[in-house]
Amino acid sequence: MARIHLSKATVTEREEQLVLEALRSGWVAPLGPMVDHFEAEIAERTGVAGALALSSGTAALHLALLHHGVGAGDVVVVPSMTFAATTNAIVYTGATPVFVDSQASDANVDVALMIEAVDALRAEGENVAAVVTVDLYGRAVDYSALVPALAERGIPLVEDAAEALGASLDGEACGSFGSCAAISFNGNKIMTTSGGGMLLSNDTELLSRARYLSTQARQPAPWYEHTEVGYNYRMSNLLAALGIGQLERLDVMIARRREIRDLYADAFADLDGVRLLGRSEGDDDSHDNCWLTGAIVEGREPGFIDRVVEGFNAADIEARHLWKPMHMQPMYASARTFGGDVAAGLFHSGLNLPSGVDLSDDDVTRVIATFRELVTG
Ligand SMILES: *Cc1c(COP(=O)(O)O)cnc(C)c1O
Repeated sequence: MARIHLSKATVTEREEQLVLEALRSGWVAPLGPMVDHFEAEIAERTGVAGALALSSGTAALHLALLHHGVGAGDVVVVPSMTFAATTNAIVYTGATPVFVDSQASDANVDVALMIEAVDALRAEGENVAAVVTVDLYGRAVDYSALVPALAERGIPLVEDAAEALGASLDGEACGSFGSCAAISFNGNKIMTTSGGGMLLSNDTELLSRARYLSTQARQPAPWYEHTEVGYNYRMSNLLAALGIGQLERLDVMIARRREIRDLYADAFADLDGVRLLGRSEGDDDSHDNCWLTGAIVEGREPGFIDRVVEGFNAADIEARHLWKPMHMQPMYASARTFGGDVAAGLFHSGLNLPSGVDLSDDDVTRVIATFRELVTG
């Protein structure tokens, strides 16, 4: 039996063809017609004014924070439950991340606590230079209270929508909630350019400044003229060609991931103490992109989830722990955290199940049987 992966990309003949076209066109550079086209299509898809194709989602986050002048001496408020890339971008600027706990239902940030954290830090005299949200596993944060609260306080919101392309909230696409947003096309994401990302915004000035910084801050002069430090962050035209093809299939891929989640939900409904993230009572996951399905197993002894992950591995199935919260990471051992027990609890009881479009129905059946055995056996 072949190994079942967590979230493996698939590539069609059409996509191979597009990459070949890009190669043969002579635009073998980090600029070219495929990049322009890809940027326009992603902007249209997410309903923002413009997009800047970059080498990674992390680069997009870095440029977003630089735009807002985030730097040494500042603090940036961010969810604890996220991938390290979110906080790495903050640290690149010299600022200090301050972590906020999750809500139990979907592991997304606890918005009320996030606003509380901002106010508490400001009352202590800290400069909260930005707030970064993360639309975790392809599900939007509840922006209804957060966006006006931050606007009222004059604090910029940067949306880390790396995992959430194609998801939405109340008809607004993920990637459109902050002053700007980062999305990722890394190999395991909902769609891929093998590696890449974009910065999205309605602020065209922000985008043109980021574009300039992403090309080594080169001044418009006949020679290489520089007045400040820049970055080499642009996306290759070859990779944009793959992205254009993948985007054509985004809705089909989301539909398949949803189908897989529905199969898991049905198959585990009778299991004691088992629930899926975003499917708790009162939750509606119909606008999530279902990038990864997270399962929580409650009421077992400590270490139980580690054995479930090991059991999957022994059965040649790749399942993974949820993101280990940043406040539990060795590098942030002394970081300031608001709450933290909920995210820690989710980490100790949760895992991501194989969710990729490469899964056959037989694969899903195998995952279901293995999980049931591990959880009940
Ligand atoms: C994948 C991811 C990123 C980083 O994207 P890259 O393109 O890999 O740099 C940032 N934040 C989150 C939440 C992610 O999942």
